[in-house]
Amino acid sequence: MSKPAELSVEELALAEAPKILVEPPGPEAKKIIERDNRVVSPALPRAYPFAPKRGSGSVLEDVDGNLFLDMNAGIAVNATGHSHPKVVEAIQKQAAELIHYSGSDFFLPIYSETAQRLSEIAPITKPTRVTLQNSGAEAVEASIKLARWVTQRPNIIAFYGAFHGRTLGSVSVTASKTKYRARFGPLGSGVFHAPYGSGQGWGLDLSDPEGCEFPTIAYIEKILFKRVVSPDEVAAILVEPVQGEGGYLVPPDGWLAALRELCDRHGILMIADEVQSGIGRTGKMWAIQHFDVEPDIVLSAKGLASGMPLGAVIARADLMLWDKGVHGSTYGGSPTCCAAALATIDLVENGLKQNAAEIGPFFMDGLRKALAPYPWISEVRGLGLMIGVAFSDHDKRDAVEQACFKRGLLALGCGDDAIRMSPPLLLRRDQAEKAIEVFADACAAVG
Ligand code: PLP
Repeated sequence: MSKPAELSVEELALAEAPKILVEPPGPEAKKIIERDNRVVSPALPRAYPFAPKRGSGSVLEDVDGNLFLDMNAGIAVNATGHSHPKVVEAIQKQAAELIHYSGSDFFLPIYSETAQRLSEIAPITKPTRVTLQNSGAEAVEASIKLARWVTQRPNIIAFYGAFHGRTLGSVSVTASKTKYRARFGPLGSGVFHAPYGSGQGWGLDLSDPEGCEFPTIAYIEKILFKRVVSPDEVAAILVEPVQGEGGYLVPPDGWLAALRELCDRHGILMIADEVQSGIGRTGKMWAIQHFDVEPDIVLSAKGLASGMPLGAVIARADLMLWDKGVHGSTYGGSPTCCAAALATIDLVENGLKQNAAEIGPFFMDGLRKALAPYPWISEVRGLGLMIGVAFSDHDKRDAVEQACFKRGLLALGCGDDAIRMSPPLLLRRDQAEKAIEVFADACAAVG
């Protein structure tokens, strides 16, 4: 077998991984980390010293020639795997033709083509319109602006544990970690938070004396609406159909439908933040489709363009009524990003979401069996290839994350208690089996 550095792109996708030649971080990675430590903002969170050089499929090669099996996909971004040839071809063709011309100010053909494609796949039956942005956070901000503009109501309800981004507007609705917010105030006003889903892990007594099926929804009605914000002053409820950074939490069946009903009763818009859960990740194009609920506005980014920066706000056409010029972006909907998105959507529609639907349950079952001996693993949860392994011991969670890295398996903590697996949607069965084996070995090493 040739050395990793000599593998072609096709061979790299098929290579046996993980394959660790030198304990990471190796000498080349150390040089990069040393430079990085001197010149890069120290606020970047960096989970472990991984320095990627190239990738293909679900395999990444680091700068020292180690091969890693990637359960991160660039944090749920590389939906089509690393440098999928069809995505690369689409970007290259577009770059050779036209790299940039502001879609906000002129009629870029590929902008409306992307909007049309997004409208076709939107989890909304009524006609939709689309505005394109550069990131998830920008999509979140644009949706808040749209909801306020169209309802003329000032307030937004979001959920504890939610992550919606780090810009000032999006961090105002984020409530996953205090450190994202501390010392950045004053944040955007008019935001109220409620416990998410089953209320799992919030240490709150949410038992409802009147026997409401979902105490977390009763909280909105009976605490927020009664004591702090009138429902007729709430523009939107912003919800992740599966909470991402909050711990890969899947809400109980019926919860999103109950939230929809609450929105309808009070004329509040439902914004589904599918930045992490969308574009096939859960085995359907959108996570909300597992729950038979239609949002009024859906947000996309991350997997949408396979790693090119693109965010989208897809809203019911009868809501996207704002006046000419009130919102736009120089780069949002940049041609190369749109080209990557069109190629990505084709790939996800024609095979990858089906693969996530098949491999996801297989992966989760395998993890449950392999991790059964460890009493400090409390749960394996998720939908499709959005999988969280929950730990009752926080230190062990951190130690397992590091032990996986040393063994060549890339996985990342999320929430208070979990490690997330969000691999490329083309993950193969043999790669899932390998990931289970390495993860279990890391758990055994941690003890
Ligand atoms: N919304 C959700 C659900 C996310 O998971 C993220 C990022 O992790 C964002 C919004 C922010 O996206 P970005 O980092 O592209 O700004």
